[in-house]
Amino acid sequence: MQCPCCYSTQTFKNGFRKGRQCYKCKQCGRQFLESYQAWCYSNDVKQLCLKMHLKGMSLREIERATDIHHTTILHWLRKAKLDLDGIANT
Ligand SMILES: [Zn+2]
Repeated sequence: MQCPCCYSTQTFKNGFRKGRQCYKCKQCGRQFLESYQAWCYSNDVKQLCLKMHLKGMSLREIERATDIHHTTILHWLRKAKLDLDGIANT
């Protein structure tokens, strides 16, 4: 089961909610139900938000502009930074 948030496959079953299998992601700690991806955004949207941030917009400003919660954007930023660090270290 892949995490719809950070695409990590390090997920584990975390009980049942409303009769559906619930999973939790080891990578980002996000809980999600099987086939529930309402808060999952496309890569294009993600890249757009990261670009806005690089241009100096605050997370709150991006939230107002895109309607995406700032903690979601913060998560992407952290993930992007991890990826960059990973590249730098190899
Ligand atoms: Zn995740």
